[in-house]
Amino acid sequence: MAMNQTKLIAVLYAISDQIIEERDYLTELDRPIGDNDHGINMSKGFEAVKTKLETLADQDIGTILKTTGMTLVSTVGGSSGPLYGTLFMKMGMKLAKKNEITFDEFLDAFQIGIQGVGERGRSTTGEKTMLDALVPAMEAMKTAWEADHDAKAALQAGAKAAEVGAEHTKELIATKGRASYVGERGIGHQDPGATSAMFMIRTAAEQM
Ligand code: ADP
Ligand code: MG
Repeated sequence: MAMNQTKLIAVLYAISDQIIEERDYLTELDRPIGDNDHGINMSKGFEAVKTKLETLADQDIGTILKTTGMTLVSTVGGSSGPLYGTLFMKMGMKLAKKNEITFDEFLDAFQIGIQGVGERGRSTTGEKTMLDALVPAMEAMKTAWEADHDAKAALQAGAKAAEVGAEHTKELIATKGRASYVGERGIGHQDPGATSAMFMIRTAAEQM
């Protein structure tokens, strides 16, 4: 699989539309363990991303991703804005000036982006956050890719792992972000950020 700017822009439009479509569901998930705004925050951010994408057709992959990240940072009110912003900005920095990337380059950038989220949020897996979908997805993609170099199979494995990871957050007690305020009472509730991450990964996998 090779990815170019045109394909990347199509993937980002699809991710934006998916997040906007799941606005109410993501907000609803944020009610019992947060402040009832995750879908509102995210859809506002991705509406802005969609507008920005219209101006990015001639840019390289790094610039497209960096601009997406910066747009999320500046338009998403909640803590998810800087975190997802970091994910896309770090990926963009890693892929600076590239017009086409290989699956290995994508995986490398995805890993660096996720590391950036953990640094920015001082968080790791098992804390009931977006990392509980992002990290298993990345690891599953890597394992599948190394096993038989089939990008499609690797993306499907990543999407599946993100679904399992998001579902698994129901069992976790949050130690980061607003959900940490409710502690054990959060058990049984799925993390909104892990769910938005799952939607993004699943949509990207379907598109790529
Ligand atoms: P806020 O919590 O400011 O209202 P959102 O509701 O938009 O922001 O996003 C909440 C989501 O952000 C959580 O469900 C969680 O997945 C993610 N999150 C919060 N804090 C962190 C952190 N320190 N590291 C990683 N993800 C985090
Ligand atoms: Mg919130």
